[in-house]
Amino acid sequence: MEKVTEFFGCNVFDDRIMKATLSEKVYKSLKRTIDRGTPLDISVANAVAAAMKDWAVEKGATHYTHWFQPMTGITAEKHDSFISPAPDGRVIMEFSGKELVKGEPDASSFPSGGLRATFEARGYTAWDPTSYAFIKDGTLYIPTAFCSYGGEALDKKVPLLRSMEALNRQAMRILKLFGNDKVRCVKTSVGPEQEYFLVPQELYKQRKDLMMTGRTLFGAMPPKGQEMEDHYFGSIKPRVAEYMADLDRELWKLGILAKTKHNEVAPAQHELAPIYSTTNVATDHNQLTMEVMQKVALRHGLVCLLHEKPFAGVNGSGKHNNWSISTDQGVNLLSPGETPHENAQFLLFLAAVIKAVDDYQDLLRLSVATAGNDHRLGANEAPPAVISIFLGDELTAVLEAIEQDKPYDGTKKEKMQLGVDVLPKFSKDTTDRNRTSPFAFTGNKFEFRMLGSSNSISCANIHLNAAVAESLKQFADILEKSGDFNNDLHKLIKDTITEHKRIIFNANGYDDSWIAEAERRGLQNLKTTADCMPRLCDKKNIDMLTAHGIFTEAEIFSRRDIMLENYVKTVNIEAQTMVDMARKQVIPATAKFAADTASAVSVKKSVAEVACTYEKRLISTLSELIDEMDTDTTALEGTIAKLKGIENIVEASAFVRDTMLPAMTTLREAADKAEQLTSEEYWPFPTYDKLLFGV
Ligand code: ADP
Ligand code: MG
Repeated sequence: MEKVTEFFGCNVFDDRIMKATLSEKVYKSLKRTIDRGTPLDISVANAVAAAMKDWAVEKGATHYTHWFQPMTGITAEKHDSFISPAPDGRVIMEFSGKELVKGEPDASSFPSGGLRATFEARGYTAWDPTSYAFIKDGTLYIPTAFCSYGGEALDKKVPLLRSMEALNRQAMRILKLFGNDKVRCVKTSVGPEQEYFLVPQELYKQRKDLMMTGRTLFGAMPPKGQEMEDHYFGSIKPRVAEYMADLDRELWKLGILAKTKHNEVAPAQHELAPIYSTTNVATDHNQLTMEVMQKVALRHGLVCLLHEKPFAGVNGSGKHNNWSISTDQGVNLLSPGETPHENAQFLLFLAAVIKAVDDYQDLLRLSVATAGNDHRLGANEAPPAVISIFLGDELTAVLEAIEQDKPYDGTKKEKMQLGVDVLPKFSKDTTDRNRTSPFAFTGNKFEFRMLGSSNSISCANIHLNAAVAESLKQFADILEKSGDFNNDLHKLIKDTITEHKRIIFNANGYDDSWIAEAERRGLQNLKTTADCMPRLCDKKNIDMLTAHGIFTEAEIFSRRDIMLENYVKTVNIEAQTMVDMARKQVIPATAKFAADTASAVSVKKSVAEVACTYEKRLISTLSELIDEMDTDTTALEGTIAKLKGIENIVEASAFVRDTMLPAMTTLREAADKAEQLTSEEYWPFPTYDKLLFGV
């Protein structure tokens, strides 16, 4: 087998290839664009396009595509071939700078939340040179941003880039105040840990719910679930190991830094973590990872489920967004430094994050809200829907000392003084133990743990970057006017802690008492998508997001509508699938079993004097359940009809939350009881035990 070091990134037009194929002048100019965002000259674009095309054609590519991330949450692509007719009837392979830089996918069917009237529906795609182009399945993929002709963002990349820029602007102001003159830019980095399930493909195909909605809408608990905790970090089964090895190879070829793989808590659940990279690239890579995971699974006769809650009763899947801020000099601003000066700077950035998370709890909560993720958050397996920060005891003690003007460790008498005292060394062990916190400090980064497994990580990072940019802006506004920097800095951090310490919570977030305590502290508990999504349009959020140039007001309203529509549509499809399965599969199967049991009773009675008490009891219970399922299905059909008549999207989402989802739960309860009483050979689709333990 080839060496990893030799084939890693072989399908990527990366820095190495750029250096080798571009003239020095073109390379330097492109580098300036990548590193500093300077505009790109068309002659440079032409040269890059030609080099990209030659490289891609050499590797067997015939097409190119502008790859983009519309509001559907997945990626989109339309392929064009490089061919161009030559006068002699043959073709040559062509690709111009214009084609590289800008595309018009005529993608009028993507959700735009009313931003585009259909007559001007054509959005355009614009090359994002900060994310490398790559080859997949014979096509050259060019990462692009997707905008309307009016310049409005129609995707998840444009606002992400804007949010990184906003954070950069404000962080640079702060760094100047600390005398950092060499830093040219500040970037956020992310390492997203991705959870997923694997189920056998032949079983998957027998379940309409998995095929239509990505999750099981019916299914009684198997005799064994995850209670033994024997799957977590357990030895990996050969078939899964082969899948993981194949997946790693495919990801490495695409230059994705797949690093860690292991079994997760639930049976059939696994995790993949990459080495972190710049947020924009990490986002592209995570989208690509999810796609490749699903594709490679098929080669192994498996299906990779990325839904947040494929199975009731066992853990769902999330994504941990490990996030940090660092300078182009390689300094991690969330890492406590060696000197009092570095410590003070670290504490200011830390305070900025604490303030941001407290001030914009709603934005963070709604950035991870989807119909799928609503099944996880607050369900005693994932972080609660309440946002809080875990800092660990040591760091909390330091903040307390600052706030209360006292020494932070018992051996000293002097009060904690910023710019004078050195912080203790925080070991990773003491900062990384709490797994229940939605937002945990883990030594030199924050881990935002509320993201759903199928979510694009873009939204979470847009809101996080924006909120932190706002804290930093407020801090810079104060400190830039200061006559006594050290003193004012100390006071600023102290005041920030006093004002925002309610968001810090170091104990068990899964505990019910925390929800009560959080309420006393005045923290928000936005349980569902329908509860939190409308908050996007609260004045304070619009003000902040527009002030930093992340979104225009129109974009914000359109995004709220798109996300709510997505929620409503998702649940509606689930409801329709349930009705279909109940009427055509579950009820008939139960009825058939009851009828066959009844026939068996007649046969038995014809040959012997028997009471058939068991059969009679069973038949009567099954008949009651059949009636119940019929009634529940009719009720669910009623909600589907009613939803059609609700025009206002906010009202529709509330109806889904309050009426449709409960109707689905009621039907499921009856059906799951019927499953447990029905002979296995009658049940119309594979049950949980086979799905969860079948690989
Ligand atoms: P674990 O959470 O399993 O203890 P780590 O904390 O080492 O593992 O890493 C988890 C994820 O966090 C990985 O994707 C890793 O690349 C990422 N990560 C590590 N350091 C940083 C950092 N400074 N910024 C962003 N992500 C990071
Ligand atoms: Mg982790």
